[in-house]
Amino acid sequence: MEEEPVVQTPGTASADNVGFSYFSINKGMGKSIQTQNDESTVTQRKNLVLGSFLTEEETSPTTASIDNVGFSYFPQKGKKEKDWEARSYVNLPDWMKDNAYIKSGYRPELQSFSQCFKSIFRIHTETGNIWTHLIGFLVFVGITIIFYIKPFCETCDREIKLSEKLTFLFFFVGAMICMGVSSLYHTVQCHSQKVSKSFKKMDYAGIVTLIVGSFVPFIYYAFYCQRTTQVVYLTTISLLGLGTILVTLMDRFGTPEYRKVRAALFVCLGGFGFVPGIHCITSNGWDDAVKNLNMDGVLLMAFLYIFGAFLYGMRIPERFIPGYCDIWCQSHQIFHTLVFIAALVHYKAVSSTGLFRMSLAGQCEE
Ligand SMILES: [Zn+2]
Repeated sequence: MEEEPVVQTPGTASADNVGFSYFSINKGMGKSIQTQNDESTVTQRKNLVLGSFLTEEETSPTTASIDNVGFSYFPQKGKKEKDWEARSYVNLPDWMKDNAYIKSGYRPELQSFSQCFKSIFRIHTETGNIWTHLIGFLVFVGITIIFYIKPFCETCDREIKLSEKLTFLFFFVGAMICMGVSSLYHTVQCHSQKVSKSFKKMDYAGIVTLIVGSFVPFIYYAFYCQRTTQVVYLTTISLLGLGTILVTLMDRFGTPEYRKVRAALFVCLGGFGFVPGIHCITSNGWDDAVKNLNMDGVLLMAFLYIFGAFLYGMRIPERFIPGYCDIWCQSHQIFHTLVFIAALVHYKAVSSTGLFRMSLAGQCEE
């Protein structure tokens, strides 16, 4: 980062300047540097006047300097020794470099879980990613509790089977694991390379659990009266999910070069849903599939996932406006939000299908 020439003006800011005469003023981009340099200079002056010397620890927060370019909204006052300042992309260690279109606002390598968790409440490149899925996780905890406490259906024509309750549990657990683990990964992602790598794998495995978990109630109700087909599809998606998790465990899979492969693999796993989907439409007819089996909701869910994965893989919008999505509206946050909305849409669709299956019209002919 090029710095503009330093303009030196005589110190006029009150008693702090005792015995010393210069402030460094950087214009424009380096406002926070200016604040820090001012503080640094002031502190040094005070200490020199008082005849004392700064220890290395005391000086370090004020010498972090160049990484803070453009970030002036982090509190400077009352800063604790271990507090961190946001970094720009170029100043990150290589292992943290993932998306060059996100220019600044990064947390540094914190090497501390407590610092990572405290950073949930600060503004940086991961704040949006953490909260979009933390909120999603909490919403699904709420939905799950309500679902099992409140009777599923008060006007049903038959008892709810245990297998039906379990079917929904797969979906709820998949959604909670996916969003819970994702939020956790984004929280501790700056701890260290080792921690980041392990949690990233869990994050990918979480996406697989949501995809597979979403299939379970859909296939269960769509092929409610065709047990063999139901079992074949459920077994197939479970095996495909297991295979995908094994691939995601490979170290190479988490690297930036594999971003498009990752997006494509998850889309393929989700895209397998078109097989039972088309099967269901052809055997029931489009009208019945939409009316009774809420196929429109399932298709909307699929579209949201695929669209989100596309934005994530292509890094849209930040590739068109680099540096403008550093904190909000990055592709990753949009992807998270679409995953959350897609899970809600899917829940609405499969629970409506469940209600249909509990009515007289939805029961199997003997
Ligand atoms: Zn994520």
